[in-house]
Amino acid sequence: MSRSVLVTGGNRGIGLAIARAFADAGDKVAITYRSGEPPEGFLAVRCDITDPEQVEQAYKEIEEAHGTVEVLVANAGVTKDQLLMRMSEEDFTSVVDTNLTGTFRVVKRANRGMLRAKKGRVVLISSVVGLLGSAGQANYAASKAGLVGFARSLARELGSRNITFNVVAPGFVDTDMTRGLTEEQQTKILAQVPLARYARPEEIAATVRFLASEEASYITGAVIPVDGGLGMGH
Ligand code: NDP
Repeated sequence: MSRSVLVTGGNRGIGLAIARAFADAGDKVAITYRSGEPPEGFLAVRCDITDPEQVEQAYKEIEEAHGTVEVLVANAGVTKDQLLMRMSEEDFTSVVDTNLTGTFRVVKRANRGMLRAKKGRVVLISSVVGLLGSAGQANYAASKAGLVGFARSLARELGSRNITFNVVAPGFVDTDMTRGLTEEQQTKILAQVPLARYARPEEIAATVRFLASEEASYITGAVIPVDGGLGMGH
């Protein structure tokens, strides 16, 4: 059965691996991208998730082409690392506006169709950092921790409507986001990962696909770590 799947920020990194995993399984996959040229093989819609009008427009295009979105993966996210002393209000609010409020915007819009269809799967991409905290990432960690309360509230609000909400909390994954870290930061991080390596984006994608599958029909409100053991116990 081919479902209508939307992956935000599906043009690169973890989002692209997730989009490929669903497409390989035969689903109709739409991705949103904010900048640059999107990869081929998907319905690609330009959409900045900080802009409600662009979100609405993206859904219209996707619904016209693929029908109601049945699986939403809210993956788009940013970092703007800075110690609290030097963190401006804009550094804080812009990260929250993308990672948390942006996710609210795309989830709220998806919900309309999911309620009508009486089914839906929503997977939010958080981070181990949202559970462990991270010096220099108070804005990012707060936004990612916020996703947990958001998803668990919706799991309660909409469980009886056959819509599941789950959170995936990746550890460090080999993407542009982590390539920006200094070598010293990378060595420190790896020393704390029991599996002693970064994740491949495909390893995150496999868990997301599972959560959206029939096999995961009784899982909702869960936070699934895919972090090589980094966050154990949190
Ligand atoms: P990348 O930086 O490689 O990609 C980020 C994606 O988000 C891009 O597609 C980007 O679009 C999109 N994006 C950013 N801001 C917006 C916006 N305002 N509107 C629409 N799209 C936007 O990151 P990753 O692939 O590494 O990360 C994907 C998700 O996984 C993020 O939520 C991140 O926080 C999370 N994560 C990543 C980890 C890692 O180690 N890499 C670890 C834990 C969680 P564009 O290309 O146009 O900029």
